[in-house]
Amino acid sequence: MESKLALHGGKPVRQSLLPYGRQWIDEEDIAAVVAVLRSDWLTTGPMVTRLEQAFAGMVGTREAVVVSSGTAALHAAMYALDIGPGDEVIVPAMTFAATANCVVFQGGRPVFADVDPETLLLTPEQAEARISPRTKAIIAVDYAGQACDYDALQAIADRHGVPLVADACHALGGRYKGRPVGSLAVLNTFSLHPVKHITSGEGGVITTSDATLAARMRRFRNHGITTDHHQRATAGSWFYEMVDLGYNYRLTDLQCALALSQLRKLPTWVERRQAIARRYDTAFASLPAIQPLRVRPEVSHAYHLYVIRLDLSQLKGTRAEIFAALRAEGIGVNVHYIPVHLHPYYRQHFATRPGMCPVAEAAYEQILSLPLFPRMQEREIDEVIAAVTKVVQAYGV
Ligand SMILES: *Cc1c(COP(=O)(O)O)cnc(C)c1O
Repeated sequence: MESKLALHGGKPVRQSLLPYGRQWIDEEDIAAVVAVLRSDWLTTGPMVTRLEQAFAGMVGTREAVVVSSGTAALHAAMYALDIGPGDEVIVPAMTFAATANCVVFQGGRPVFADVDPETLLLTPEQAEARISPRTKAIIAVDYAGQACDYDALQAIADRHGVPLVADACHALGGRYKGRPVGSLAVLNTFSLHPVKHITSGEGGVITTSDATLAARMRRFRNHGITTDHHQRATAGSWFYEMVDLGYNYRLTDLQCALALSQLRKLPTWVERRQAIARRYDTAFASLPAIQPLRVRPEVSHAYHLYVIRLDLSQLKGTRAEIFAALRAEGIGVNVHYIPVHLHPYYRQHFATRPGMCPVAEAAYEQILSLPLFPRMQEREIDEVIAAVTKVVQAYGV
């Protein structure tokens, strides 16, 4: 293998950029969408209930509510729990902005908690340290696809009388102590964006066994109206009442049919993600400057992301330089995430600042997400390993 970095004019490991995540659509998926196009119901039709039942059945909850995005799912969860002005909701600093934004949509205040240095998951101790008399909920994030310690988090939530919500957007298909992700908190949210485990283009789901919360969220996704178009058509009635302020957060039947078709492939796709992660684990065991996140024995990791930490004491470059070198080699590495409290919006409106979550802030300087998606070819996995090895050797001290 050529050792001169592509960044410095050498031959890249691969020509085109391998993305960090990518959907997989087959002919069966396309046929499912086309069938809906030929049907009477493009939205608010029978596919919505079918997807909801399939999702609830898969994670083992009584209910699932589908909405137009993972962000809408989080918003619906905050609405269902009555989060409002003056309320605080604890969220981890290491997550996508939407986990915190959903609190702000409802007029509440996200309170950022720090994460474990080895897993980057919200720790029960950090969550408890941020509880105040105004705390109305805790949102745990299954970062990278590894379920949080839900037994410990639930014990804290119970002790303080606040509900626990799981932002499980990374962890569809994962398990904790044998229990499926999606059944671990009172409300559990998922995203159906193309980089996630399965897709409907855009889409989101909340799973719950609380029928009252499910009913509230179904009303919320439909303008706060008590019945939907399909129910009125079936009953032959025109009457409806708007009882609260809601949104149009509906998912179309086209999208539900696509997600339903994709859902059948989820178990084999999660296995494939796990197999790729094992290849990376094995390859990086001999590169001390590369430290994968720790995986706890009680979880089955769903691997939305494969995140490595760079031990910068063993490397001459910064994360930004290593990032650029890997991109030049054709590897579409990414960074998940800039800690949310460091974004200008939160600094300006919620007076957050560096130093508030030191573990997340330090991790942010070290992390890279490597390409990981079920359709990856063996050759592409080899290329990622070759490029990481080449770059780490070039920057080695
Ligand atoms: C993807 C994601 C979301 C938002 O999902 P969208 O479908 O893009 O709105 C929320 N939280 C986390 C942790 C995510 O990864």
